[in-house]
Amino acid sequence: MSETAAQSSAPLRARAEIDLAALRANVRTLRALAPGAALMAVVKSDAYGHGAVPCARAAVEAGAEWLGTATPEEALALRAAGIDGVRIMCWLWTPGGPWREAVEASLDVSVSGMWALREVVDAARAVGKTARVQLKGDTGLGRNGCQPGADWAELVAEALRAEGDGVIRITGLWSHFACADEPGHPSIAAQLSTFREMLAYAEQAGVRPEVRHIANSPATLTLPEAHFDLVRTA
Ligand SMILES: *Cc1c(COP(=O)(O)O)cnc(C)c1O
Repeated sequence: MSETAAQSSAPLRARAEIDLAALRANVRTLRALAPGAALMAVVKSDAYGHGAVPCARAAVEAGAEWLGTATPEEALALRAAGIDGVRIMCWLWTPGGPWREAVEASLDVSVSGMWALREVVDAARAVGKTARVQLKGDTGLGRNGCQPGADWAELVAEALRAEGDGVIRITGLWSHFACADEPGHPSIAAQLSTFREMLAYAEQAGVRPEVRHIANSPATLTLPEAHFDLVRTA
């Protein structure tokens, strides 16, 4: 029986190692394509079923400065596995989420509305530690982002107030493309233009983000003007 197990696990192990070597090579290629930007390796959904922790480690070995997950639970699991010394961002928050744990684990948390800002501010005060907050703008994806205009102005103002109190640090301004996998799609230029306006507004108001980012994998490959400070690749 143990022989059978050994036989059947050998090809699995070989397969996992090949995947990780390929992943490292992909990360190096993508970094070379976006030389002016840092790279965030997105390892959400258990790295698309490939194993979040080994994939995250491989990506960091290959030069990824950031890791990204959808849910805070996935991000906390990376820290729990001992992945330190690399920034980890998560963006899929719901009311009552594990904000305190996220602040304690030095995650960068995405905030796309006043409710989320209030929750992270409360958590940071409770924990006694400055929270790293990235404000997400909805530039046309139509889900999970702050609308430009009055909503953005309110969110930026409130975030700056919390930053002035030392409760949060606004580490990033970001958005997500809806159709970057269709080069030339009219929504791409429109989203980029809205993103630039939202950045300009926030920066004029006094936000000094470490990273501004909108590019996912297809935009990293085909749209250099969208690279800004960070690209997020799968
Ligand atoms: C999943 C995801 C990515 C990476 O996936 P792509 O296939 O490149 O789109 C990047 N950014 C965000 C916000 C994501 O959710």
